[in-house]
Amino acid sequence: MAVKYIIVTGGVLSGLGKGIAAASIGHLLSSRLKIIPIKCDGYLNVDPGTMNPFEHGEVFVLDDGAEVDMDFGHYERFLGVTCKSSWNLTMGKVFDMVRKKERRGDYLGKTVQYIPHVTDVIKEHIFKIAGEEGADLVIVEIGGTVGDIENELFLEATRQMKEDVGKENIIYIHLTYVPIPYGVNEQKSKPTQQSVNLLKQRGIFPDVIIGRCSQFLTKKVKTKISNFCDVDPQAVITGLDVEDIYEIPLIFEKEGLAEILHKKLNIYSPPDMRKWKQWIDNLRNRTKEITVAMCGKYTELVDSYASIVESFNHCTAHLGCKVNLKWVETTDLKDTSILDGVDGVVVPGGFGQRGTEGKIEVIRMARERNIPFLGLCLGLQLAVIEFARNVCGLTGANSTEIDPDTPHPVIDILPEQKQVEEKGGTMRLGAYPAVLKKGTLVYSLYKSTEVSERHRHRYEVNPEYHEILTENGMVFSGRSKDGRLVEFIELPDLKFFVATQAHPELKSRMEAPAPLFYGFVKACMD
Ligand code: GLN
Repeated sequence: MAVKYIIVTGGVLSGLGKGIAAASIGHLLSSRLKIIPIKCDGYLNVDPGTMNPFEHGEVFVLDDGAEVDMDFGHYERFLGVTCKSSWNLTMGKVFDMVRKKERRGDYLGKTVQYIPHVTDVIKEHIFKIAGEEGADLVIVEIGGTVGDIENELFLEATRQMKEDVGKENIIYIHLTYVPIPYGVNEQKSKPTQQSVNLLKQRGIFPDVIIGRCSQFLTKKVKTKISNFCDVDPQAVITGLDVEDIYEIPLIFEKEGLAEILHKKLNIYSPPDMRKWKQWIDNLRNRTKEITVAMCGKYTELVDSYASIVESFNHCTAHLGCKVNLKWVETTDLKDTSILDGVDGVVVPGGFGQRGTEGKIEVIRMARERNIPFLGLCLGLQLAVIEFARNVCGLTGANSTEIDPDTPHPVIDILPEQKQVEEKGGTMRLGAYPAVLKKGTLVYSLYKSTEVSERHRHRYEVNPEYHEILTENGMVFSGRSKDGRLVEFIELPDLKFFVATQAHPELKSRMEAPAPLFYGFVKACMD
């Protein structure tokens, strides 16, 4: 079978959930096909690793150490695949490739141009991945909105692909917005028509249109979109606003998308949604509730903690307990009643000095009041600092990231990071194995002595302080294979006080919630 391609574009507005739509489309077809997702981003950064969470939301990290767009989280969770660095194609990477080719002399004699040279590089990259991975189906999501200057070259490249792969092997899906203006109370198709016109001006004629709307699209609006945009009426699909993103594949299935894709691409891969439906039922019919304080500095932007939110959803689907997140901004934390009515505390990852003293204070309260605590990366580092200061008596203990002149650098830069000057892609990144200590809480949650989690950090627990920390009762429940790095800690006298240098939220899946989150939620429920 020839490789099939689905190109997903977006129109009208950003933030309509193109990544979730692309992942859900893949989910519908994943029972029999090997699906590879590729995300094209128009920005000139090589990857989002150097971007502020306010700019970009969460930076997702892959096993191979790539820092990629957060949509890869949706792909991994909806498709059950482990994604790779090359599947996130940014314009920064594309221009890098073109420049290398030019310097090598590949274009000798030619003027290097956007078309065909840049578009060729994009297409070659996509075809190469399809070949290397033995893909049956490649889903290419183009970031941004049609009409943006940044994604023009990706649109042009994917338009040209129709000629290269044959029109029977490629379809174009456009996600738009169908508003219901206040007072008009009617679903409006005009933004969709205009967006599809923009797409058509670029030579792309969509085969399927997904209209994001707060209601199921009416027959009337579907007919109108079908007429004006020249798509089959059955190929106008509702992208319903939902409470849980995991409902989207079910909505698409209900709207008949799987059959349309089968027909248009001449494939057959019927969705098996039984387990998925069960999890959604559990998400909806939760009988218990807990409140967890999320103590970060990007709390206005929930997207920067997207994988943590999803990890809790995975726990809810298995434990039937809703996790209400109370976002606590720690930059100027003065209120000691902040943890009243809270069942657990999470201190997530982060960088820089702002907000750290507030987080340390919250950790102290959690420890002293025996409130379940889960620390993730920076969360582990701050828990060690708090313990060093208030239990080991090391006044002024800190991380050299936060206070370079601290008298007790209990958290210090990794030796291999000392020489690093470039910022992009140079942290300790990707999946690393850790060896867990039998008899610890962390071991009982993972049920294995060797585990692998993803990392993104430059600092570590300073080996010079290992002894004093453990003598005072902190247990290092997991270390790197060579024993040098502390990967997991716990305080065994407390109900649940666990932290890790890793980001276990990045590997949590609906079918297998991250063990530390699972254990934490259970502890909060008790
Ligand atoms: N800033 C810390 C470090 O670089 C923690 C990073 C993180 O939380 N991802 O080590």
